[in-house]
Amino acid sequence: MRTGRVVTALAAAAMLSLSGCSSSDDDDADSGSTGGASESSGGAQGTVRIGIKFDQPGLGFKDGDEYTGFDVDVARYVANELGYGEDQIEFVQSPSAQRENLLETGQVDMIFATYSITDKRKEVVSFGGPYFVAGQDLLVAADDDSIKGPEDLEGKNLCSVTGSTSAQRIKDEYATGTNLLEQPGYAECVTALTAGSVDAVTTDDIILAGLAAVPANKGKVKVVGNPFSEENYGVGLPKDSDKCEAINTAIKKMIEDGTWDELLADNVGASGYKANTDLNPPKPAACS
Ligand code: GLU
Repeated sequence: MRTGRVVTALAAAAMLSLSGCSSSDDDDADSGSTGGASESSGGAQGTVRIGIKFDQPGLGFKDGDEYTGFDVDVARYVANELGYGEDQIEFVQSPSAQRENLLETGQVDMIFATYSITDKRKEVVSFGGPYFVAGQDLLVAADDDSIKGPEDLEGKNLCSVTGSTSAQRIKDEYATGTNLLEQPGYAECVTALTAGSVDAVTTDDIILAGLAAVPANKGKVKVVGNPFSEENYGVGLPKDSDKCEAINTAIKKMIEDGTWDELLADNVGASGYKANTDLNPPKPAACS
């Protein structure tokens, strides 16, 4: 099934010629699935393929044909500022471990997926933003008082996601005596936690808060609330993309016009998550 989906995605990628972040304008796409892009006033032509998470409630979530979450709404705002209407956006699932590859192979034009800006990633992709700053934290069983921070993980079973900064930080800084299980997504980790097969899940606090708030997990798990990193969420772009300046202008506008506050409150307010106001809203960095 997974292979089928990948094949479908590749076929779709082959059919749709890239217009958003590519300089190519040989638009030979044979109509296919998107219904083509109408020229809206001053709008961009074609489709923009935006990578998001499909399984992170409050951030990037697919529910039937609906896509919801803070990342998704920020992506819509930015795409709109770049001239793309809602019907010109195609959302593409972008799991943590596949993000660089999806950008490098041109399967997506940009990524809004709790994607931390790091020097290592900057070797192969570029980033706009940041548009949010989160912190790595821990999710534990509601009645567990033994884990108050990463230094309490010795002898514990921990779950995180392959290709994430969260898993990497554990391996680099807290590996001694901790058994790290890596999964493709955080929802799988939370399932392992509620089933009792791991003691904790680690990733960004805003992601954990969203997962803790879903009805199936409510009351069973809690976010420790002791963040131990700074995760600057960037807009992933193909290396040396010329879209970075326009994206940062859009992010600044979104913050200044009050939309950023609204989108955050609408999408993550219900989880009880409070953004770190010393770091948020962030100022987009210079594009390099
Ligand atoms: N923000 C971290 C990262 O980009 C963890 C969340 C994620 O895996 O998306 O690796």
